[in-house]
Amino acid sequence: MLSMANDLKRCAVAGDANDPLSTRIYSAPSSPGRTAFQRDRERVVQSRAFRRLAGKTQVFTSRSSDHFRSRLTHTIEVAEIARTAVTQLRLNEALAETLALVHDIGHPPFGHAGERALDGCLRRHGLSFDHNLHALRIVEHFEQRYAAHRGLNLTLGVREGIIKHSRDYKSSEHPELAEYFLEQMPPLEAQLIDLADEVAYLTADLDDGVESGLLEIGHIVDNVSIVGRCYRIVEEKNPEVEQKYLFHEALQLMQNILTDDLIATTRANVEAIGANSLEDIRRHPARLAHLSAQAEAERLEEKRYLYDTLYTCEVLEREHDKAKEVVTALFDFWVDSPDDLPPSYVEEIESEGLARVVADYIAGMTDSFIFEQYARVKRMVRR
Ligand code: MG
Repeated sequence: MLSMANDLKRCAVAGDANDPLSTRIYSAPSSPGRTAFQRDRERVVQSRAFRRLAGKTQVFTSRSSDHFRSRLTHTIEVAEIARTAVTQLRLNEALAETLALVHDIGHPPFGHAGERALDGCLRRHGLSFDHNLHALRIVEHFEQRYAAHRGLNLTLGVREGIIKHSRDYKSSEHPELAEYFLEQMPPLEAQLIDLADEVAYLTADLDDGVESGLLEIGHIVDNVSIVGRCYRIVEEKNPEVEQKYLFHEALQLMQNILTDDLIATTRANVEAIGANSLEDIRRHPARLAHLSAQAEAERLEEKRYLYDTLYTCEVLEREHDKAKEVVTALFDFWVDSPDDLPPSYVEEIESEGLARVVADYIAGMTDSFIFEQYARVKRMVRR
């Protein structure tokens, strides 16, 4: 048995039938053998928005390789890391895994370039786009799987985590989010998702960057300290092995080091404040899930490297420009011609406003569907 010193179970979300975080918007009969969060995991995996992640960009939109991550495979990698962390810390595994699986569900097509473009369009109408808030709209409103209500009717714990896993919202700016304990920190299960996401994409983007030919292994090893360190460890053990295999193993080692560091540092932070319950985690003035100072510095160095060499390189900037062109042209088209929207979206205009409805429609699209729409609209406009 794990000793108290290694075990954060006392700070976990309970997730049992009496846990207020297990309550749903509409009452639902309990299911024998499955906790509320386990059922939420199924609800997320069976949603249409989850399946659409397969068709959404992570980093590379033009698919010059079948091996690049999509937002779906990225999501699965985040869930793996989150599960490793919560299992070792004995936190609520089903809650953390559900939050990992749902964490990118609000992303529009074309990755962050699509998000920036959609946000820019909405700002011209005095609104903004935020993928966490959009994820909440998806699970509360756009998914229709039940006869009695709209939305997936997810538990309060999962909805809170969707909102708060990666940032804090002020209650003065977001009165509509009042039920999500905005003045308190989220549970550790939610706090860990943001860092599991960081660890997953920092590893994956170097891998996909090399696969794309835009990054070069030797340059990464020389310029990203943690990769260099891992590469030399792997190389020493396998001096005869080809560079690309050493690199993959070095990335795996790096992911393990960062994950172990996240687990150990989070555990130490909780111990340091003497937290003994979820309430203690919630009331602490700062998040407790962190990397150590050294790992955090290495994470930032690696992130800077990816920005300088990959995310802002000429090839990807061309893709980002195209994303902006497509999103902006379609947004403007539907704002001018709302009758061209699908009837279910037209119905929403009166209550939600036209600009928001157009953004909702675009945000749900996969990369291939938005390109189809763009081609169709261009043909119509030309006529
Ligand atoms: Mg992510």
